[in-house]
Amino acid sequence: MASVVVEGLSKHFGSTIVLQPTDLSIEAGEFVVIVGPSGCGKSTLLRLIAGLETPSSGCIRVDGRDVTDAAPASRGLAMVFQSYALYPHLTVAENIAFPLRVARRPKAEVEARVAAAAGALDLTALLSRRPRALSGGQRQRVSIARAIVREPSVLLLDEPLSNLDAELRVRMRHEFARLHAQLGITMIYVTHDQLEAMTLANRIVVMGAGRIEQVGEPIALYERPATLAVARAIGSPG
Ligand code: ADP
Ligand code: MG
Repeated sequence: MASVVVEGLSKHFGSTIVLQPTDLSIEAGEFVVIVGPSGCGKSTLLRLIAGLETPSSGCIRVDGRDVTDAAPASRGLAMVFQSYALYPHLTVAENIAFPLRVARRPKAEVEARVAAAAGALDLTALLSRRPRALSGGQRQRVSIARAIVREPSVLLLDEPLSNLDAELRVRMRHEFARLHAQLGITMIYVTHDQLEAMTLANRIVVMGAGRIEQVGEPIALYERPATLAVARAIGSPG
């Protein structure tokens, strides 16, 4: 588990300001959901925390350690993408093991951790399959298993369910709640689904046009949205 703190974090591409200087403090073990309209900078904020983008200003601390200039793989974080990004030529087991192989972990450790991650995501029976022989939900579970196999202290998820059908989204939503409880891991989860936000979050971060509009517990935001934009994002009557 780890806390994630960003201070004065901003990003511009050329003259386009995508993220205004932003402060956000996330406690160890928290489940934080980021919502907001398309293009408001949710993915950019996540990618900055992950180290996949370089900030224009500000700093990022994980568990008190300044990781602003640290390589992505050394931040103690893992990210799950909307597109899953599995390797089609590798089996499920090889896909999950990939980050451990890159890190040159010993074979016995790789096998034990892959078995544990696969078990947690209910993938044990599918380990020898290739991605094309899996359903959308199974593929997404493999991408999550691959993300947790290095036992990150923070899991970043960018609209992880948006490619799944409604029924599967409900099942996976319960899966995320269970995984959060089981692993005790800090989760930062981007979605535009109000129900996911309201049911999963300890706190919701509402973004609008490159900045944070409001942060609070789901009920508090629902009952007392600070702006109309927040009410819209939460689905509150306003
Ligand atoms: P969201 O995830 O909330 O939909 P993004 O963080 O993906 O929003 O994007 C925020 C804004 O930044 C958008 O207007 C997008 O077009 C712009 N943007 C994102 N990445 C780049 C980039 N590499 N170059 C230029 N503009 C970008
Ligand atoms: Mg996005």
